[in-house]
Amino acid sequence: MIKLKSPEEIELMRISAQIVSKTLGVIASEIKPGVTTLHLDKIAEEHIRDLGAIPGFLGMYDFPNTLCISPNAQVVHGIPNDTPLENGDILSVDCGALINNFYGDHAYTFEVGDIAPETKKLLQVTKESLYVGIREFKVGNRVGDVGYAIQKYCEDHGYGVVRELVGHGLGKTMHEDPQMPNYGKRGRGKKFKEGLVVAIEPMINLGTHKIQQLRDGWTILTQDRQPSAHFEHDIAIVDGKPQLLSTFDYVYEALGITSTEEDEFRK
Ligand code: MG
Ligand code: MG
Repeated sequence: MIKLKSPEEIELMRISAQIVSKTLGVIASEIKPGVTTLHLDKIAEEHIRDLGAIPGFLGMYDFPNTLCISPNAQVVHGIPNDTPLENGDILSVDCGALINNFYGDHAYTFEVGDIAPETKKLLQVTKESLYVGIREFKVGNRVGDVGYAIQKYCEDHGYGVVRELVGHGLGKTMHEDPQMPNYGKRGRGKKFKEGLVVAIEPMINLGTHKIQQLRDGWTILTQDRQPSAHFEHDIAIVDGKPQLLSTFDYVYEALGITSTEEDEFRK
């Protein structure tokens, strides 16, 4: 069942989304060769609790940590560990937080030092595809319009679009209806209405779209072991149009990047 949010609830969800956004900003300035993903996880947990929120993933379905951290060929759901990062790695970091009974859910794929040009391009195109999808998230459109736009954009670049994992409605639970696949057909699926809040999150592979799961029961990785990228925003439909609740502003501030990519979706 889809639960549409009131304007007041959307403002509460903006607080949740801002907390995960700020947390990724803190993580951004810590990522460098030699650092472990467990270190990043500890910093994220402290930061979320300092802001008065609760880590959203910790304990959910028995997940053991605050962040899902998925390097290189790992797609999502990687478990933080004590292996130091190396120059040339990429690192998908997914962060959830709960405050005022609402969840935020936000992900960014970071570069560790200098990465291969083809991997850099994968990150760029995956992030662009997120905004291509968000642009279709408006009153009158349907779930399939978002999925179609993301799939077309990524497949036109020769990339693999993961099928088994999808975006989702967001609210008082982390995963609400509707599911938001990163593939689909135009004009198909549930129609979007005012007050709908979703997480859109393309998971895009350099090679095959096919994935495998490690025996830890969590980690998803590409079948061909080529890199995978993941970017995720929380978005509400306000006045018929997509409005970002999360932001990469804090990440960009930490990394010294200027960007106008979010401007058309700001409040
Ligand atoms: Mg997420
Ligand atoms: Mg999500």
